[in-house]
Amino acid sequence: MPRYSTLDQLQLKVLTKAAALVTAPANQREVFDQFVMEVVAVADLTPHLRRVTFRADGFADFRPTGPDECFGLVMPPPGRPLTMPDEDRVNVRTAIRALPEADRPDLRWYTVRAHRPEAREIDVDFVLHGDAGPGTRWATRAEVGQSVGFRAGNSGYRPPSGGAVLLVADETALPALAAIVEAGAPADARIFAEVPSEEYRVAFDAPVTWLCRGDDAPGSHVLPAVAALPGPAPDYAWVCGESALATGVRRHLVKERGVDRRSVMFSGYWKLGSARV
Ligand SMILES: Cc1cc2nc3c(=O)[nH]c(=O)nc-3n(C[C@H](O)[C@H](O)[C@H](O)COP(=O)(O)OP(=O)(O)OC[C@H]3O[C@@H](n4cnc5c(N)ncnc54)[C@H](O)[C@@H]3O)c2cc1C
Repeated sequence: MPRYSTLDQLQLKVLTKAAALVTAPANQREVFDQFVMEVVAVADLTPHLRRVTFRADGFADFRPTGPDECFGLVMPPPGRPLTMPDEDRVNVRTAIRALPEADRPDLRWYTVRAHRPEAREIDVDFVLHGDAGPGTRWATRAEVGQSVGFRAGNSGYRPPSGGAVLLVADETALPALAAIVEAGAPADARIFAEVPSEEYRVAFDAPVTWLCRGDDAPGSHVLPAVAALPGPAPDYAWVCGESALATGVRRHLVKERGVDRRSVMFSGYWKLGSARV
C-alpha cells in the first residue's frame, strides 16, 4: 500500500478542488494502485482500433471508480527494461521525472474498457494512429508476453440521478462511451460520436448519432450537431475527445445554452499536433 507524503496529499486535494470549480466532479480514488501487467491477447476490432488484454494479480482486487475508468500505461523506453515510477508519489509524472533519463518510461492514458477481476484481466481498446507517439507505437507492436506498467487513474462519468443526459465522444473516447452505455446510461440519453471515417464505427447497444469528419478539424461536425439539438439544454453532459472538440462543446453548452459548468464533465483526451505529456 503506497504511503503518500502530506505535501502530496495536499497537492491532490488542491487539484481536485480546483477542477471542481470548472467541471463536473469526477469520481476520485485515494490509492493509485500500481503494478506490472502482461499482454495475454491482441485483437483488431476495426482497422484502427486494437484490443489488448492484460493480466496481473493486481486486477483481482482493483476497484474501478466508475465506468470510464482511466489508467496510466507505463511503457519502457525502446530497448530498455521496464522501470516503474515510485508508487509512493501521488503525481506519477513527478515520480517518472525523478528516474534516470535512460530508464524513464513513457506514460499515456487509456480507458479500462472491461475489467474481469476473477480472471485478473482488463481489456483496453487502442486507437492506432501510426508511429506518432509512444502509445500508438507500443499498441501497434503489442505482442502476447510483453510487460508494461499499470498506474490507476479515476473516472469522470457521474450524472445526477435524474434529468437529461448528453454524451459526446470521439474515437479515443469510444471505449469510455461504450463502458458508460453498458453500465446503464439513461435510455433517453442523447449520444453523439464524431470519428474520422465509417471505419471507426463500433457496435453500440444504444442509439448513437455518428458523424464522420473526414479531414476536417476534430469537433467541427459534432459541435453544430449539438448546437442544433432541439428542446431544453441537458442537465448533465459528458464530453470527451480531442481537446478542441471537448472545449468547444463545453463552451457552447455553458455560454450559449446556460448549462452550469459544474454539470459538464469534459476532458481533452488528446490534442491535435501535440503529444499528451
Ligand atoms: C482519460 C483518458 C482516457 C483515454 N482513453 C483512451 C482509450 O481508451 N483509447 C485510446 O486510443 N486513447 C485514449 N486516450 C487518448 C490517448 O491517451 C491519446 O490519444 C494519446 O495522445 C496517445 O498517445 P500517443 O503516444 O499515441 O501520442 P502522443 O505522443 O500523445 O501524440 C503524438 C502525436 O499524435 C497525435 N495524436 C494523439 N492521439 C491521436 C489520435 N487518437 N489520432 C490521431 N492523432 C493523435 C498528437 O496530436 C501528436 O501530434 C485517453 C486519454 C485520456 C486522457
